[in-house]
Amino acid sequence: MTTNGSGPGHSRSRVSQRVQQIPASGIRKFFDLLASMNGVISLGVGEPDFVTPWAIRDAAIHTIQRGLPEEEVLTHYTSNYGLMELRRAIARHLEKLYRVSYDPTQEILVTVGVSEAMDLAMRALLDPGDEVLVPEPTYVAYNPCVILAGGKPVGVPTYVEHDFRLQAADIERRITPKTKALVLGYPNNPTGAVLSSEDMQGIADVAHRHDLIVISDEIYDQLVYDGEHTCFTSLTGMRERTVLLGGFSKAYAMTGWRIGYATGPAQIIEAMMKVHQYVAMCAPTISQYAAIEALTSGDGEVQRMREQYNYRRQYMVASFNQMGLDCFEPKGAFYTFPSIRATGMTSEDFAECLLREEQVAVVPGSAFGASGEGFVRACYAASLDQIKDAMERMARFTAKHRVTE
Ligand code: PLP
Repeated sequence: MTTNGSGPGHSRSRVSQRVQQIPASGIRKFFDLLASMNGVISLGVGEPDFVTPWAIRDAAIHTIQRGLPEEEVLTHYTSNYGLMELRRAIARHLEKLYRVSYDPTQEILVTVGVSEAMDLAMRALLDPGDEVLVPEPTYVAYNPCVILAGGKPVGVPTYVEHDFRLQAADIERRITPKTKALVLGYPNNPTGAVLSSEDMQGIADVAHRHDLIVISDEIYDQLVYDGEHTCFTSLTGMRERTVLLGGFSKAYAMTGWRIGYATGPAQIIEAMMKVHQYVAMCAPTISQYAAIEALTSGDGEVQRMREQYNYRRQYMVASFNQMGLDCFEPKGAFYTFPSIRATGMTSEDFAECLLREEQVAVVPGSAFGASGEGFVRACYAASLDQIKDAMERMARFTAKHRVTE
């Protein structure tokens, strides 16, 4: 018998067991289906509908056109850590927003998006069999990153009763002698949850008591609609045990530029840099210059986009509740996570039928782990017109399939 990846006569898979362990993304099936259909409104992809603000694009174009001082020619690699000017700008940005200070010479690493930063963190930190606690429902990349680094992801469920805010007691219950790290991702993808300061303090206490390293993915930090974001490293005692991951993709609408960063204790950042220098060398140079501009002049644009997301968020939450799909109010990122229990369908059936009958794409909650069952993720980083149209179609669909009052 041949197995996945083997040719005739081979009984052993050529694909590593680690990669075989990674489940195919639960989202992929829908996007394959979607690609074959016309007139679909997609609330599926977690990507801003805005184009990167003009000043950022212009800075990149201008840099290419004028060339640069000889020692920093644009068409070359940068330092493995990233351009010093960008690292300094990141340090100033974090200091200004959160009063946390990082040394640009050894505590900041510029990466190919938060995606690469997460992978580097896992590879730099984990030994075979180390356990990593991952709140569920979870962003789809966290578990695969842990597995690829030889670790074991351990899900920590979050519940709609708590507006999907991670609770310290639920973490503590899953700690074993092998637990090495905890992943945090707030504001959250897929639920839109943000943590309260009490939640964060409770989690910090657990991290301290059990000597956990915290990998805090704060890519949505600037997309918070009610109150202020608290950076996990700003909590007493957390800076020395936290790797903070930050990005440009969401707040500055720069998904295609592939740029992000990690900050943390020098020893960990140096270890991540060692992996990064062999797999990526450096983040794209042109994108690094664009990122400097984003941090220098992007505040107003971020504010403008945040206001629009906020309006769409309120519209979507109200629409779901009106049509009978209970939806708690997400306070950050750009996702809603309504319950679809009123239809009696599984989240996968719901998403598939909705796509076939009304040509609206949402992501089944089960794609984000078992605790996502009974929910779907709908992204409001689509235009308001599209959202209005999608909500009408979903209301029609829900009325047709409702099984409970
Ligand atoms: N982390 C979260 C929670 C995300 O939602 C995403 C993208 O959807 C990423 C990381 C990836 O970010 P980047 O584009 O910086 O690689």
